[in-house]
Amino acid sequence: MNSPQILRNFTSFLKNPRKFILFFGVPGSGKGTYAALLSKSTGFLNISMGDELRKLIKTAETPLFQRISEEIQQGKLIEDAVIFKILEIQLQKSASGVILDGFPRNVAQMLKFEEKHAINLVINCVLDEEILVEKLLGRRSCENCGKSYNLCNIAKKGYDMPAILPQKSGFCDICQGKLVAREDDTETVIRKRMREYAEKTAILLDLFRKKGVLVDFAPKRGVKDFPEFFAKVVKPKL
Ligand code: ADP
Repeated sequence: MNSPQILRNFTSFLKNPRKFILFFGVPGSGKGTYAALLSKSTGFLNISMGDELRKLIKTAETPLFQRISEEIQQGKLIEDAVIFKILEIQLQKSASGVILDGFPRNVAQMLKFEEKHAINLVINCVLDEEILVEKLLGRRSCENCGKSYNLCNIAKKGYDMPAILPQKSGFCDICQGKLVAREDDTETVIRKRMREYAEKTAILLDLFRKKGVLVDFAPKRGVKDFPEFFAKVVKPKL
């Protein structure tokens, strides 16, 4: 890129800074799916920290990646140096806005992030705990392209969340890759992730609520509830 081009980009950035939207929600609340839908509606860059970490550990078998892989399986948080490096690389991609799913996970990450960026909107996805566990145990994704499915059909407590099944059992509709459960989607690890999530994020959600940037999204029908939420709550804030 030549200097006038860099200057033009920088000037337009100052006039029109990127919007940052964060997604929160316990594991299984659907935040990844809703983040992807929002990215489609807005054209914003969608960064899922969990997906980025999983991609990373697939690339090589170094001791660092081996350790990250073990920590993910145990439901532990990965060190900030790794997380911020991933973020830095992803944020080099151009887009008028960025959707972050799975970041920040604690106050230290939030403060470090806010040194450079303003957070415009935080979407807190809310779902009943019993339903969450069922949904997570039914979750499958394509080991090749990452597309998500769910084998569990939920119709209780006012919830209406049908299974998302592939046309051919066990295989992806898009690329015919094998559908697999995530290694950390076992009941013990799920409960641990929920505890860890509640302990670490309650304070973050409080802070965002006090700042007035947090909105709750409590769908009973999963993705079917998203368009109305987007039109009434999200769009006016963009
Ligand atoms: P879930 O929402 O189901 O917990 P994610 O895909 O967001 O799953 O994350 C999977 C794992 O990746 C986490 O349990 C944690 O080990 C790691 N991870 C994801 N985001 C972060 C982050 N911001 N900081 C530290 N570790 C993270």
